Amino acid sequence: MRKDRPKTHRSDSAGGVRSGPRRTCAGCRKSLDQDLLVRYVLSPQDEVVVDYRRKLPGRGVYTCLNRSCLELAVKRKQLSRSLRGGKEPSVEKMWRALYDQIRGKVLNLLGMSRKAGQVISGTRQVLSELQAAKEVGLLVRADDLSSAIAEKVEKAASCNNVPCTVLFTKEQLGRLLGKSERGVVMLKNGPLTAAIAKELERLDKFSGEL
Ligand SMILES: [Zn+2]
Repeated sequence: MRKDRPKTHRSDSAGGVRSGPRRTCAGCRKSLDQDLLVRYVLSPQDEVVVDYRRKLPGRGVYTCLNRSCLELAVKRKQLSRSLRGGKEPSVEKMWRALYDQIRGKVLNLLGMSRKAGQVISGTRQVLSELQAAKEVGLLVRADDLSSAIAEKVEKAASCNNVPCTVLFTKEQLGRLLGKSERGVVMLKNGPLTAAIAKELERLDKFSGEL
């Protein structure tokens, strides 16, 4: 049996090796650690819905986190069949819902980081922090940041080998931090930042598609 082991998956916040239960993808039929798969359940309205956080009750069915496995599963009506109810959903709708749920999780983790004092925001502070290059784990910059500032920030990030992701608007980032608009947010190194990086990597699969 093939074992998929991306490096982000190998350790959890306690530094231990995680090995969750294995589930089968309804598309490619591979058996994988459920952390690597997307769960779908039947809603009380008898609709197939994405359950990215795997928190909803009831029977679940899984696919890999890629569009081709979802397409295969939907083509064979595997979601409704495995859930024993509902109508087979459209790939478009499920893919969109998945994107929204991952984004929601990022937003939620960013909120937790803020409460934990792991976030520095504001272009000036972030740039000076980058110059000192201490404890920087990740940068998020708003997609409506002016191109001059964006260039400055990205240059500083790449000089210091800090990944920089473009996500949310200035207004959304600001609201998240309980402030007015914020163009750049810096996250200190730590388990929360690692969790955010993992979700951002997943969001990357959607770029250019939605
Ligand atoms: Zn698959």
